[in-house]
Amino acid sequence: MKKHNFYAGPSILPEYTIENTAKAIKDFAGTGLSILEISHRSKQFVAVMDEAVSLFKELLKIPEGYSVLFVGGGASTQFAMIPFNIMKKKSAYLNTGAWAKKAIKEAKAFGEVDVVASSEDKNFNYIPKGYTIPTDADYYHITTNNTIYGTEIREDIDCPVPLVADMSSDIFSRPVDVSKYAIIYGGAQKNLAPAGVTFVIVKNDILGKVDRAIPTMLNYQTHIDKESMFNTPPCLPVFSALQTLKWLKNNGGITAMEQKNIEKADLLYNEIDRNKLFVGTVAKEDRSLMNICFVMNEEYKELEGEFFEFATAKGMVGIKGHRSVGGFRASTYNALPKASVEVLVAAMQEFESMKG
Ligand SMILES: *Cc1c(COP(=O)(O)O)cnc(C)c1O
Repeated sequence: MKKHNFYAGPSILPEYTIENTAKAIKDFAGTGLSILEISHRSKQFVAVMDEAVSLFKELLKIPEGYSVLFVGGGASTQFAMIPFNIMKKKSAYLNTGAWAKKAIKEAKAFGEVDVVASSEDKNFNYIPKGYTIPTDADYYHITTNNTIYGTEIREDIDCPVPLVADMSSDIFSRPVDVSKYAIIYGGAQKNLAPAGVTFVIVKNDILGKVDRAIPTMLNYQTHIDKESMFNTPPCLPVFSALQTLKWLKNNGGITAMEQKNIEKADLLYNEIDRNKLFVGTVAKEDRSLMNICFVMNEEYKELEGEFFEFATAKGMVGIKGHRSVGGFRASTYNALPKASVEVLVAAMQEFESMKG
């Protein structure tokens, strides 16, 4: 049976990415070797790294003066690497969920952290507004898309200090004005590649201003100087990332992708709002295009397990909500076809006609 993959991460990738990765595992670039067993210094792999960086820059229209890095360690290592590299005395953070909290915890090891606002009072179901960013902070950190709670900041905010963003789960889902950011980073396993590679877009002139000693591998400058080849990079995930970037380019780039993402999200949110069995968990103006969270309406609570079984029997995978929200979460990343959302919507309607 065809599976409809709604996992939050690792998550659905384009068939193009998976097919080309499978081929390269058998025979990489006509070398007669697998990509799994070839030197990262081979000219074939160096070409993969170079093309991945240049397509990354092209698709996101990254201006001059920025570097694109592919490193290991996940977004979670970036939580520490950012303050290590750019925090002198004080930083500011917006607390919009579990990932933001983890980032805040790491920053506290390096100095004063001003949490300018938090939505924890309502289990992170909205994006705080009307706060002030302290102008004496070395940077201000946001999580643009909250994978667990399903809220998203979809505009590139004006910020009086260097802006740093965790875009793990919404990179390439919409055009971004990179010039407004000092650092954008994320684990690639949500919308780009298999787990194992972390992307970092860093504005070169933000670096070199802290006094502390930075371990070589945790210093952005190391990876800039060696073009992500200081040590062995995660070769296979970088290869797969390149395939996804090519797929994005062949499918109209990020603007076209955003249009499709809006269509998919509208379809599902409209059904959540219409169907009397279900209710969305997030403030409407802050709803994520990537992770759509909903629960059973109070009077139908006991049907939750049954709907889960019902959807699973129809080939839907990964729609169980995160334990801190409950209910359901449908992740609708770039590679998810609209047809999969239609199958979910049809299942919700059929379930309503059976139970409503
Ligand atoms: C998944 C996720 C992370 C954690 O990424 P790792 O690569 O597993 O460290 C951090 N931030 C956000 C927004 C995420 O969705």
